[in-house]
Amino acid sequence: MRLGLLLSLLLICGAAICCTPCASAQASAETTASHQSTQNHAAYSLPPDKLKTAIEYTRKRVILNFVGTAWGILQLLLLLAFGTAAWMRRVAIRIGSNKWAQGFSFFLLFLAITSLLSLPLEMYGHHVSVVYGQSVQHWGSWFADQGKSFLLTYLFGGLFFMLLFFVIGKSPNRWWFWVWIPAMVVTIFGIFVSPIFIDPLFNHFEPLQQSNPALVERLEQVVARGGISIPPARMFLMKASEKVTGLNAYVTGIGASKRVVVWDTSVAKATPDEISFIFGHEMGHYVLNHIYKGLAFAGVLLLVLFWIGFNSVQWLLRHFGAGWGISEQHNWAAFVVIMLVLSVLSFLSEPISNGFSRSQEHAADVYGQEAIHGIVADPQATAKQAFQVLGEQSLVDPNPSPFVEFWTFSHPSISSRAAFAATYNPWAPGQHPKYFTK
Ligand SMILES: [Zn+2]
Repeated sequence: MRLGLLLSLLLICGAAICCTPCASAQASAETTASHQSTQNHAAYSLPPDKLKTAIEYTRKRVILNFVGTAWGILQLLLLLAFGTAAWMRRVAIRIGSNKWAQGFSFFLLFLAITSLLSLPLEMYGHHVSVVYGQSVQHWGSWFADQGKSFLLTYLFGGLFFMLLFFVIGKSPNRWWFWVWIPAMVVTIFGIFVSPIFIDPLFNHFEPLQQSNPALVERLEQVVARGGISIPPARMFLMKASEKVTGLNAYVTGIGASKRVVVWDTSVAKATPDEISFIFGHEMGHYVLNHIYKGLAFAGVLLLVLFWIGFNSVQWLLRHFGAGWGISEQHNWAAFVVIMLVLSVLSFLSEPISNGFSRSQEHAADVYGQEAIHGIVADPQATAKQAFQVLGEQSLVDPNPSPFVEFWTFSHPSISSRAAFAATYNPWAPGQHPKYFTK
């Protein structure tokens, strides 16, 4: 789901889930597996015809990702250079003296223009997903999702936009800090409400118990092994098959809205053993408090980005403000400068947030594999096969570019995850599990 640049920036690490640092005494089995896994990249492989398609598909996705980011930044530069930002401000001011009317008019123009400019690339991205069998969503439903995203971004982004300018007015030199506080509040609130109010706008959910009682019983075994409590009422089935073909499961929400979501595509295409592993991984995020740690990480990162952003905005306005028709920061059109700076910073910080996320995902892999010990016959083979099913379905290239992996991957590559799974056996003599003692 794309909630627009502003919200996605606030949620920059909302999905970046984190881990506990490994205690050195516990690291032996994991370290051994890591070393072996570097020599065992064939743990995930594709048949020749599928491999060719996967390489093609991955290349298109990578290009779309980088071109999409570059185009997003270029758009904002063009809006400034051609005086469109200043024009949008003049239109908004002509509406009247009411600040709310002006602000929401300016934000509507900004959102409409940038959304229209991005639409062709977004449409091409969806077309590619359909052609490569990753999406089964019809254009009508796709456009309806775009419309819903637009309205949500307009409503919530608009409120944040008003707050931003209120804070800039009150504290011209410290707004980068004062706006960071509500940004964090909005992020936490967003994580809390999205599973309840936002996600159901885009997908259908039902209690997992309703259609898969046997699976719930099986998952409760894994839960019991974790020594925690995830009641069946917090396990949901998402009808992902209405739109996509890929497999997934995730932990979402915070406090009372915290829950585990399993996609129906996973139930259809993976065995109960493989789902147990996928679920064990998700339970790892849950048990290891990755959402809270991710929030703490996002908080620090955002504070640094806002401070750099503030200083960059001042510099840009001093040097180019006159040419762009933007006299000072307390000018509706300065929002375009702020978004330009934040877009660039968001792109530049991707390796940091993704590196953080990858370390959490690895921790969850370790946890998941340990969690199914004693429940499935062969945890190593099960986990490896789960990655095979996942990768084959999503046309994952077994040999991604190291640069692309470093910059854009929120998870370690499927090859390295499968290789690690194949060799990770903390119950072998002389090894120690990291999270489970038995
Ligand atoms: Zn995960």
